[in-house]
Amino acid sequence: EKMGGVGGHEEKILVLVRLRPLNEKEIDVNEVADWECINDTTILYRNTLREGSTFPSAYTFDRVFRGDCSTKQVYEEGAKEIALSVVGGINSSIFAYGQTSSGKTYTMIGITEYAVADIFDYIRKHEERAFVVKFSAIEIYNEIIRDLLSSENTPLRLRDDPERGPIVEKLTEETLRDWMHLKELLSFCEAQRQVGETYLNDKSSRSHQIIRLTIESSAREFMGKSSSTTLAASVNFVDLAGSERASQALSAGSRLKEGCHINRSLLTLGTVIRKLRLSPSFLAVVVYLIFSFYGCLRLIESKGRQGHINYRDSKLTRILQPSLGGNSRTAIICTLSPARCHVEQTRNTLLFACCAK
Ligand code: ADP
Ligand code: MG
Repeated sequence: EKMGGVGGHEEKILVLVRLRPLNEKEIDVNEVADWECINDTTILYRNTLREGSTFPSAYTFDRVFRGDCSTKQVYEEGAKEIALSVVGGINSSIFAYGQTSSGKTYTMIGITEYAVADIFDYIRKHEERAFVVKFSAIEIYNEIIRDLLSSENTPLRLRDDPERGPIVEKLTEETLRDWMHLKELLSFCEAQRQVGETYLNDKSSRSHQIIRLTIESSAREFMGKSSSTTLAASVNFVDLAGSERASQALSAGSRLKEGCHINRSLLTLGTVIRKLRLSPSFLAVVVYLIFSFYGCLRLIESKGRQGHINYRDSKLTRILQPSLGGNSRTAIICTLSPARCHVEQTRNTLLFACCAK
C-alpha cells in the first residue's frame, strides 16, 4: 500500500516515535543520553562504547520527535487528523506505547486536551449540525475493568450488544461541556487511577487506561425541513501498560504466568492482529508488529495453533474492536527514554516500530 506521509489520508495507521529529554533524577545520577534525533525521520544510537555491536544504530520512521519537541507539535503533526476524523463519523484510536517513565501518560494527556480543544472549535464552526460530546474513562488492570469517573471500586462487566457492539455496563458517561470540564474530569480520573497504588506496587505501569470521546451529530432543522442523518463515532486515547511488563513476562517460571495474566489484554491484541495480518492491510501488519512484542510471540504461536483466538479473549481488544481495522484510523506513539540505563527497552521499542515502515 502506498505511504501517505504523516497524517496522510491513504494510511489507516501512523507510527510515531517520541524521545523525551533526560529527567532530573537521571541527570542527578549522571545518566547519559545515548539517543538523538538527527532529523525529522531518523533516530540515532551513538554510544561509542557499544561500537561493533550487532544492532543497527540509525532507525528511520515517518516521523520522530526530539526531546525538545512540545506535545503540541506531536499532536499537530502526528495525531490531530486521526483524532478529528471522529467528527466525521470515523472511529479512531491513539495509543501510547513504551516502557514505564518514557512519557506515555504525559503525551496522551496533552494530546487528549489538544484534541478536545479542536473538537469544540470544530463544533463552534459547524452550527448547521447539533453535536453531543460524551466522555468516559476506564482502567483495565488484570482483566478487571474499573470506571475512572466513579469513586466506587466495583468491577464493571462487558457485554456484547447485538446492535451497539461491546458495551461496558454501568459505565459513567459525562456530557462534555467544554475544555475546562475536560480538565476537571482528567484530574478526577488521574486521582482515581492512583487509588490502590500504595497497596499495589506501581499499579499504573501494569494497567491500561482508555479515555473515550463519543461524538454524535445530526443536522439541525433547516427552514422547516429536518434531516435524520446522524453521525456517531468514538476516539480512544489509550495509555498502555508499560511495555517492559511483557519482556519481564518472558522470563521463566511463575513470573511468566503472572506477567501473561496481567497482560492478557496485550497478548490477545497481538493474536488478533496476527489473524488480521492475513489481509494485506497495512494496519494489520503494523499493529501486529507493535503488539506482538507485548504478546510474547511464542505464546501467541502456541495458542494460535489451537485455533480460535479472537477479540473476545481480552477486555482491551473487545472494547477496542470497533476501532481496530475496518474503516477506522489508528496512531501509535512510541515513547522512548534517551537514558543509557534504558537502552535495552528503548531498542525493543524501536525494533518493532522500525518494522512498521
Ligand atoms: P509513563 O506514563 O510512560 O510511565 P510519564 O508520562 O509518567 O511516563 O512520564 C514520566 C515523567 O517524565 C513525568 O514526570 C513526565 O512529566 C516526564 N516527561 C515525560 N515525557 C516528557 C517530555 N517529552 N518532556 C518533558 N517531560 C517529560
Ligand atoms: Mg503512565
